[in-house]
Amino acid sequence: MANKSKSSVSKPLCKWKPGQYVKELELLTTIVSEPVYYCRDCGRVAAQKKWLCKPERLVSRD
Ligand SMILES: [Zn+2]
Repeated sequence: MANKSKSSVSKPLCKWKPGQYVKELELLTTIVSEPVYYCRDCGRVAAQKKWLCKPERLVSRD
């Protein structure tokens, strides 16, 4: 198991600094690739509530 835990990012995406999206691209990909929630405040999406400041469940279209 690779333990590359240099990133201690657990802040909501909403609070990330612009450069952080580049640095944490792998994490970002994990967070947004299968979105379940969106942020009512800034429109970001994430798989888990904890990544958003005003999480709201995405409504499925079917
Ligand atoms: Zn937000």
